Amino acid sequence: MKIVNKVKIGYKDYDINLVDRDIYVDGKECYGQINYDNEYININNKFNDNQKKATFIHEIVHGIDEMWGSDMTEKQVELFSNGLYKFLLDNPEIFNGKEVGNNECVNIHIPEFSYEFSKDIIDNVTKSIKDKLMQEVAVYIYK
Ligand SMILES: [Zn+2]
Repeated sequence: MKIVNKVKIGYKDYDINLVDRDIYVDGKECYGQINYDNEYININNKFNDNQKKATFIHEIVHGIDEMWGSDMTEKQVELFSNGLYKFLLDNPEIFNGKEVGNNECVNIHIPEFSYEFSKDIIDNVTKSIKDKLMQEVAVYIYK
């Protein structure tokens, strides 16, 4: 995950700035801040990469909350953004990984049991049977 220099949240385009000065909101030092009216997010550059990325996601959650009026408390934003950040770290393939396939299934009914086999398995079994038959035919022809 990268801290990009711009993000779009609804109709707002936020500039992302890494700043080399302390950030205070209501007299309290913060890792970052979001300004909804001037559309920017400041992230304090003095912290490590992991903290800066977590702050980036935190401020984005604030931005989404503001845009869609979900009215989250600071604590809710904190907990949700931490969960989201961890999810994004643990699942980088959601943006460029292999898309879930339309796993076509075939039902095979055998009186005693009924199983669902994936098309891959059916194709492999069909190919094995065909190969075996061709071998037997070949053996028969050359006898
Ligand atoms: Zn916050």
